[in-house]
Amino acid sequence: MWADLLVEEILKTRAPGGQVVNDAWSPSGYAHIGSLKGVVLHDAVTRGLRDRGAPVRFIYGFDDYDPFDGTPSYLDTERFAPYLGMPLCTVPSPEPGAASYGEFFGRRFVEDFHRLGCRPEVYWGSALYRSGRMNEAIRRVLDRAGEILEIDREISGSQRTERHPLQVICESCGKIATTMITGWDGREVTYECRAEKVAWAAGCGQGGRRSPFDGASKLIYRVEWAAKWWVLGVTVEGAGKDHFTRGGSHDTASAVAERIFGYPTPFPIPYEFLLIGGAKMAGSTGKGVLARDLLEILRPELARFLMVRPHYREQKNFDPGGETIPRLYDEYDRAVRAFRGEIDEPELARTFVYAFIDEARPQAYRPRFGKVATLLQIPSVDLEAAVAEEKGAPLSAADREELAERTADARRWLSHYAPEAYKIEVQATLPPAAATLTAAQQGFLEALAQALASAEWRGPAVHNQIHELKNARGLSPQQAFGAIYRAFLGKESGPQAGWLLAALDRDFVLERLRQASAQRTAS
Ligand SMILES: [Zn+2]
Repeated sequence: MWADLLVEEILKTRAPGGQVVNDAWSPSGYAHIGSLKGVVLHDAVTRGLRDRGAPVRFIYGFDDYDPFDGTPSYLDTERFAPYLGMPLCTVPSPEPGAASYGEFFGRRFVEDFHRLGCRPEVYWGSALYRSGRMNEAIRRVLDRAGEILEIDREISGSQRTERHPLQVICESCGKIATTMITGWDGREVTYECRAEKVAWAAGCGQGGRRSPFDGASKLIYRVEWAAKWWVLGVTVEGAGKDHFTRGGSHDTASAVAERIFGYPTPFPIPYEFLLIGGAKMAGSTGKGVLARDLLEILRPELARFLMVRPHYREQKNFDPGGETIPRLYDEYDRAVRAFRGEIDEPELARTFVYAFIDEARPQAYRPRFGKVATLLQIPSVDLEAAVAEEKGAPLSAADREELAERTADARRWLSHYAPEAYKIEVQATLPPAAATLTAAQQGFLEALAQALASAEWRGPAVHNQIHELKNARGLSPQQAFGAIYRAFLGKESGPQAGWLLAALDRDFVLERLRQASAQRTAS
């Protein structure tokens, strides 16, 4: 399991003592799925370290001192245009209940990742700057601005000419993206607020002189990254692999951390993206899928499992169409069984340890998702009774909750994502498709009618009868099951036939089998 290996590596290479795992995000709108994967990954590593008895803190930063650089499609562009260029913490909240734009989207994301069982200590960039905790880093960066410019050029080949990697908030217009520092005297900076510094926000043209401390300024991204490692004592921090290209932001931050702050680069985890495929998931923003969209499709346990299961460096494309969701459910259930020691799959058992959410019910009875989806579509079936029968005991409260959740998921899957083959409708009369049955198939159905006349009327018993007859007559599964599906559903494929038949009235089934086997066919 990759998280175990990472933990091993962290404990081997880091100095002993407490670990500080950090992740951060700029709350400029609803979080995309990549940011959610980041939280889950850091949470998994934290869980692994804790599991090994290592003292560890998981902290999560909302970079709400970052400038507001564009209005997302789901908000009113005109309303927010005047705030472009201001720190996210001074832009008004789109809805009541939050002090700022940054806080509003930060809080929404906290809700998302809490649902996935991630509970880091949250901190806000605005508070970090305003409290003065960044002052010492700011002073050092201003004093050694020339050296940092050299590092930037050497590592990234940057052509940046702006000397100071810092921006102050303009005292006239409140924008931060538009200012440029023109001097530093050891106490105050001089700055200009420029109309054309960035394409997406216009500065007011004013300038001034002010102290850069206690929240008056913020470091530019790469330098801030290094400063935060130093100030917060971060020892482990991953990021999407795009940050880890040669000469990319991580390389620069790493050089600044080591040379300017004398602080070792935290253990890096460059992770791959989770892509969401399929036409139905184009996303509500056009810029990728939102974390909350995924949580609309998958219950939290499965969403977390989806993120934890593949190796963190493996790019994964999740397409909710086809059989993806039933397969994911089956694999999740296998992981639960492995965790309970019912099957010997250590890797899957460890995956469950990292996928686990507080509210998960590992002891609950877990009927197969595909079976629930099938039974749901047969009107005469009492789902709870059918599952209790399969379990061989009455359902506990946890069993019932689990079943209710599966049922809701199955309904959603059937209405949005399931392939046609999974949608079943038992035909009231013999379907025309039954006319294509071969003589061998007809013989099989006739024998089945005889066998089922006295068989126990339960899914497993009917299932066994079908298998015995199929084997005795040397039919392929496709021939045997295909004959049943054609006779009852009018199509080539369908759900587990034993369950399907046992869910129907016995006389109806026997009559239909006889009709299908007796009709004249071309062959
Ligand atoms: Zn200004």
